Amino acid sequence: MSKNSIINSKPESKSFFDKPYFADNLDSGTNTPLLEKIVSLELDDNLSQEDIEIFNKILKGCNDLLKKKVNSHEFKINKYEFFELKFIEKKDIARYLIYRYKYRHFSKKNKIGKFPPCLQIEPTSVCNYRCVMCYQADKSFSNKSEGFMSNMSLDLYKKIIDQVEGKIESITLASRGEPTLNKEFVNMLNYSSNKFLALKMNTNASLLNEKLIHSILSTDIQSIVFSVDAADKETYEKIRVNGKFEKIMKNLNLFAKIRKEHYSKEKHIVKISGVKISDTQSLSEMEQKFKDIADVIAFVPYTEWESAYDNEENDLKHACQELWTRMFVWADGKVNPCDYDYKSTLSKWNVKNKTISEIWNSKEYDSLRQKHLDQKRNTIEPCIRCQN
Ligand code: SF4
Repeated sequence: MSKNSIINSKPESKSFFDKPYFADNLDSGTNTPLLEKIVSLELDDNLSQEDIEIFNKILKGCNDLLKKKVNSHEFKINKYEFFELKFIEKKDIARYLIYRYKYRHFSKKNKIGKFPPCLQIEPTSVCNYRCVMCYQADKSFSNKSEGFMSNMSLDLYKKIIDQVEGKIESITLASRGEPTLNKEFVNMLNYSSNKFLALKMNTNASLLNEKLIHSILSTDIQSIVFSVDAADKETYEKIRVNGKFEKIMKNLNLFAKIRKEHYSKEKHIVKISGVKISDTQSLSEMEQKFKDIADVIAFVPYTEWESAYDNEENDLKHACQELWTRMFVWADGKVNPCDYDYKSTLSKWNVKNKTISEIWNSKEYDSLRQKHLDQKRNTIEPCIRCQN
């Protein structure tokens, strides 16, 4: 498939936290009052031995930061976590930091727990957009006749949530499709409310209306991410094919108005997040345009999702972190290790006949991890074409 001419960025493999992609007021990563609050926390009696050990490492990292030990090897809270911590109640801080430790450090230590640190659940694989850098631009995926398009039932969604409540802190409602297209989306959100510390949703904002905005903001959802890549109509509509810039601005402004008038005391984090695919996108213009709508404005680096199975083979040797940090449940119940592989070449599992924990700890999943650790990712499709 030939690349759309607006794409002129190179795909990147590094975490976007390491890159100057944020256009917000995140602090530099040292926040003394917050660190002092953390080191004075009393541990919850219900924590497992493993979580106690993790929390002690976190405490050591915080103490090192307070003593300005810059070479400390213990867990350092990064600037995005400092930002999120401002929205976390004191009673939940230890829980939050343990989840972040598992998310960021288990992959470095090749460690897996009983459950993945994060679970992405896709309410639907259908999308009303055909963004140029997205798998939806691949007709062999998005054409109905190809068999990849479906909506998750509320029953299946509830079955998954019941398994992971209290076991996983981070649940994201989104992946290959636009989640609000599923008619059960609000019921899914309501069913998940007050069960997770990091409940998130991603949306292109095209279907927002007063009723949906109230439904979203009246849950305890932590993060609402609007996928918007540009501050001007021309660039936006070139990237977000089928999107109408005026309509998105109207919806986002309505969201901001309702949030301000009715939910200003709630601890939601609103993000505008784009994919940096072109030098015509400007972070400072985004900040200017969306500063009254979002708390965080950021770009994530470009991944060549739109041509995942045709990208050139590479000779990367490192193990892909996705295999230790996240797992994806597609709308039809299929489970996949990542969304680069949007046609599920790597999938051997379905939540209809195995539990989340069984899948995460299965021998097939472990064998995939081991191949990556043995520097044999070049024997696996599509890992051989992926920059992650
Ligand atoms: S295709 Fe392979 S290397 Fe790429 S994200 Fe998925 S598991 Fe990781």
